Amino acid sequence: MNDFELGAKYMQRRKSRPVQLGDVTVGGAAPISVQSMTNTDTSDVTATRAQIGRLIEAGCEIVRVAVPDKKAAKALPAIKQGLTIPLVADIHFDYHLALAAIEAGVDGLRINPGNIGGRDKVVAVVKAAQQKHIPIRIGVNAGSLEKDLLQEGLNPQALVQSALRHVAILEELGFYDVKISLKASDVPLMLTAYRMLAEKVDYPFHIGVTEAGTVFAGSIKSAVGIGALLSEGLGDTIRVSLTGDPVQEVRVAYEILKALGLRSRGAELISCPTCGRTRIDLVSIAGEVEQRLTLINQPLKVAVMGCVVNGPGEAKHADVGIAGGHGEGLIFRKGQIIRKVPENLLVEELMKEIDHIIQGRNGD
Ligand code: SF4
Repeated sequence: MNDFELGAKYMQRRKSRPVQLGDVTVGGAAPISVQSMTNTDTSDVTATRAQIGRLIEAGCEIVRVAVPDKKAAKALPAIKQGLTIPLVADIHFDYHLALAAIEAGVDGLRINPGNIGGRDKVVAVVKAAQQKHIPIRIGVNAGSLEKDLLQEGLNPQALVQSALRHVAILEELGFYDVKISLKASDVPLMLTAYRMLAEKVDYPFHIGVTEAGTVFAGSIKSAVGIGALLSEGLGDTIRVSLTGDPVQEVRVAYEILKALGLRSRGAELISCPTCGRTRIDLVSIAGEVEQRLTLINQPLKVAVMGCVVNGPGEAKHADVGIAGGHGEGLIFRKGQIIRKVPENLLVEELMKEIDHIIQGRNGD
């Protein structure tokens, strides 16, 4: 049984209604997808496409771009041209921009129907989305809730109520291609809100902790918030929001999914915390191995352990690993020692062993 099956076995996933974004299904039995958002100026097509290219390389499966003005909307066809993953336009308030984005061929919209003005505007957007089979994500954000919902202060009920209002507007128009997010930077608040909403609707959930912070703190906060919901079976697509390069968001998202055994992607590094038995520079070695593993796109568990006494045994579930000794180390596979190599060659020899495993799998 691989980790993906194991995660699925232990976690009963909420049954959500599947929604189609281009080639990617969100919800239902589809794998939990990883998405991110560009932070380039959307009207700068070259920069935006280059960033999307890097996001795809990292494993991003859905990409969102902000569409704050006409210039950005005009850039959408060129951004979409030849794109291999679904493109979502993020619109606030201006329904003209939503219509322009749909016309440009985007695969999804993030827009809150209650925020775009009169009913005629909502009808225009919904009709256009319906015609092109484009789903709409209702993106409720704790920072921008309707005033009347805040009379008793910011609480999970207010987030849920806001989402239900937007849902009602769409359902009244016969539109059900909906995803919902209820984001807050306060983790307990967003956790409770998603749990409450799960009792009320079957639309797929886009989950994330908004304004989570910098790469270090934001990754932890996201892992706690997103991880808690996923472990309860909630969540169909995830976005980690970080103040930093969005490629990091994708990497962190996969680490969260891998930790829960819900997705497998690329190599997973297992490394010990080191202790008084460590006689090699394990911190540098683990850093170098982690860097080189970013180029491996097959599921593989790689262990970097500090000592030969406990290392191979503690990491016997790893496909391959190294364990440090005195100026030398051991290479092992599934806990079985293969050979001894000098410390300065450990990383190179480990990478060779990884190549052998991959070649073996590929039948080369
Ligand atoms: Fe210490 Fe060895 Fe365990 Fe690493 S593997 S923490 S060096 S006992």
